[in-house]
Amino acid sequence: MSLNDDWRRRSLAAVWHPCTQMKLHDAAHAQPLIPVARAEGVWLHDHEGRRYLDGISSWWVNLFGHNHPGIRAALVDQLNTLDHVMLAGFTHAPVVELSERLSVLTGLGHAFYGSDGASATEIALKMSAHYWRNAGRPQKCKFVGIAGGYHGETVGALAVTDIALFREAYAPLVRLAAIVPSADARQAMTGESADDVAERAAAALDAWLADHAHETAALIAEPLVQCAAGMAMHDPLYVKRLRELCHKHEIHLVLDEIAVGFGRTGTLFAHEQAGIRPDFLCLSKGLTGGTLPLSAVLTTDAVYAAFYDDEVARGFLHSHSYTGNPLACRAALATLDLIEQTDAIARNRVTAERLVAQFAPLSAHPRIRHARQRGMIFAWDIATSLPDFARRYARHALAQGLVLRPIGHTLYAMPPYVISESEGEQLARGALAALQATLAEEQGSAVANERGTVDGV
Ligand SMILES: *Cc1c(COP(=O)(O)O)cnc(C)c1O
Repeated sequence: MSLNDDWRRRSLAAVWHPCTQMKLHDAAHAQPLIPVARAEGVWLHDHEGRRYLDGISSWWVNLFGHNHPGIRAALVDQLNTLDHVMLAGFTHAPVVELSERLSVLTGLGHAFYGSDGASATEIALKMSAHYWRNAGRPQKCKFVGIAGGYHGETVGALAVTDIALFREAYAPLVRLAAIVPSADARQAMTGESADDVAERAAAALDAWLADHAHETAALIAEPLVQCAAGMAMHDPLYVKRLRELCHKHEIHLVLDEIAVGFGRTGTLFAHEQAGIRPDFLCLSKGLTGGTLPLSAVLTTDAVYAAFYDDEVARGFLHSHSYTGNPLACRAALATLDLIEQTDAIARNRVTAERLVAQFAPLSAHPRIRHARQRGMIFAWDIATSLPDFARRYARHALAQGLVLRPIGHTLYAMPPYVISESEGEQLARGALAALQATLAEEQGSAVANERGTVDGV
């Protein structure tokens, strides 16, 4: 048995993989796991000399390539001094320095830490509702989200996540939030601009809030790109309107930049493009450059002050064992260093332009609809009759040496920022070749309708 096969077999016997119908990995389904032995830059290497270009940054977390020497050195240094200490009653340099730097970058001066994106959502929602309780308005305890929104999959986060496949089975456990229409620019009717769609969605929210703001704590939204919804993009004007409407109706604006933060959309944070500041900002994924799990919720002096009291129960009594883990904070500091030292935001602009040109033949394919891009996110909708397009495409992409996992009929690329010109060429050529190979399977396969791995997210 080959080394790859051996790890595959042992993994399938012992590991329950995320977001996966495990049966699809059976021999009969020919969708093999990829055992990864090591990774460097944009490349994942298996045990037998094959490599795959990580076109989706390992679920959107990686920024500067795998095994970056700068982040690795910071982690090794940190391991030599302090591995971990609880953050209640204790503090340490990495968490202080990270909080100070995030505060300077966002204008939000108080950082609370969790270990993953979903817990950042939970923290922001709990803090918002608790704020209103402390402010003597306990009836403001509900939430409103945006159609197609994704904020994680713990029970509280599912309440504001509008993706039926993830929620269906758990509906009885979830206290569903209200959902208002999105400003997805693909909804533009003839003659309408993205601005018009934004205004229409904002008007719907305004009307909804007029009736419900008195019992609503916060609106939660992903600014500029709803990634899990299939890279749905809207005009920055919409984010500006969200800010205005949350002020007008006295509810908090929670922005979830877990996927879009740290330069992904062309600015350090996506909301900068709307010229606004949220009341809560959720960060994770790229925060540590894709090395360690860490999330942060940043908030305002006003929110912080509402919890600052002689009474213990008015404090935010929430914790995770690894809150503010020093190793993860050091990785985050090294990542912020890289963003500055490499002038990543300006360089990404050049890289993104180059990739748009490299993807041009793909964008011009007759089956492509809505070719779109924001910063280092590229997406295309595919007109296809294949119900399992995403799974078939992912398989053909692997054969091309690429990791690309479409979401439904949306193909997208979200590569690490360090992708070189020649790697970009491989990505673009391979993505087109995989599309052609997938569409060639359309004949005679209309019956295929298995449900499988939920690709992409
Ligand atoms: C990934 C993601 C989350 C959840 O983060 P996890 O670390 O997977 O729990 C929340 N919101 C958005 C926008 C995300 O992309």
